Amino acid sequence: MTTLPQPSAPSTPLVDPAAGAAVKAADRAHVFHSWSAQGQLDPLAVAGAEGSYFWDYDGNRYLDFSSQLVNTNIGHQHPKVVAAIQEQAAKLCTVAPGFAVDVRSEAARLIAERTPGDLDKIFFTNAGAEAVEHAVRMARVHTGRNKVLSAYRSYHGATAAAINLTGDPRRWGSDNGTAGVVHFWGPFAYRSPFHSADEAQECERALAHLEDTVVFEGPQNIAAIILETVVGTAGILVPPPGYLAGVREICDRHGIVFILDEVMAGFGRTGRWFAADHFDVVPDLLTFAKGVNSGYVPLGGVALSAKIAATFEDRPYPGGLTYSGHPLACASAVATINAMAEEGIVENAAAIGADVIGPALREMAERHPSVGEVRGMGVFWALELVRDKATREPLVPYNAAGAAAAPMAEFAAACKKGGVWPFVNMNRTHVVPPCTITADEARAGLAVLDEALTVADSHTVQR
Ligand code: PLP
Repeated sequence: MTTLPQPSAPSTPLVDPAAGAAVKAADRAHVFHSWSAQGQLDPLAVAGAEGSYFWDYDGNRYLDFSSQLVNTNIGHQHPKVVAAIQEQAAKLCTVAPGFAVDVRSEAARLIAERTPGDLDKIFFTNAGAEAVEHAVRMARVHTGRNKVLSAYRSYHGATAAAINLTGDPRRWGSDNGTAGVVHFWGPFAYRSPFHSADEAQECERALAHLEDTVVFEGPQNIAAIILETVVGTAGILVPPPGYLAGVREICDRHGIVFILDEVMAGFGRTGRWFAADHFDVVPDLLTFAKGVNSGYVPLGGVALSAKIAATFEDRPYPGGLTYSGHPLACASAVATINAMAEEGIVENAAAIGADVIGPALREMAERHPSVGEVRGMGVFWALELVRDKATREPLVPYNAAGAAAAPMAEFAAACKKGGVWPFVNMNRTHVVPPCTITADEARAGLAVLDEALTVADSHTVQR
């Protein structure tokens, strides 16, 4: 396994409950939070973070098995990235997107060097949803078509086009039904929408279903098919061999732009720079955000193939952002990518997944009646929790809330009690620590998870 420079021992948590209470009181008075009924919120007041850990004001330290929202790929407070932001702030905080700037040029060069195939031009955005928004606009202008196909099991962001493309229930509150979006079923062998017997059959049937969807929607109307290379929040669904190549072939045959959304899967998360590298597939457009600079400063973007970039050589691109390629964000991306390369962080993610997380989760699945399936790669893993291994009934129903979701809430509480901050979505827990996590840290967190699974076990029919 790659030896990472060991981060200094996480700083001693500051214990100051009064300060924490003040932070929380001001939050509850004035901060309006994402995705929430505001009156029901009780946010943890965070006092600090370092490496794989963060801590509150009461002396509780958590091993971050969620990488916040699966974005701190390089861990918290990486000294090289912090220094780069400080240096850039002293030099040039902001400049309009029309100028050429050293850190923006260098960030684009470093990203283009790593993206697959001929994806060599970078349009910078402030985050992932905007990247998706612009990728769709590029595809629509490039093809002169309007419809976009996306998978039901997906999340693509919360802005106008992105939230309509999203398949998961976060779409429902903003779904305008007229955005030119058509959803289809991607492959998911464990809960096969096609009643397949195995992965090969799932791949074949999922491709036939997509081809039918394209034909019945009218290929001449379809601008793009967008997919997460490895589906993230909606379940860490690794596509079966041949699926993405098959989608590429469908797109080529019908003149459809193929967009891969690597906002979550990119920049080391799967143990490669991009998840597409595992599948030997090159999209026409690739969206990124999160891991590009671990979210130290908001940044996202679209990588364009030569073919799409050529559309805008002599024709203006109808879009822009005041902060496209913001110097602080780009400086942090340059430092992040360089640190990841110098310190073998992508290789570490691959090794931790192959040698520590994968084997441990598979072993837990044998012992715990609540674990229906383990899937993933790198530092991107899901445990599918079930009430009944035989029927695969989920531990909680799809999109359950309140009392119906209690078994998952109890499981999450047990993880936190053990000092691990888990990622929980519906009936799944995702093991998505920073790419910098050490083997010892991962083992310690997995031991807590193992213990917490006994809580999930108590809700199974086999208890
Ligand atoms: N696409 C994917 C695959 C994501 O996972 C996310 C966020 O989780 C987004 C897009 C949206 O990114 P952001 O929240 O930065 O707008």
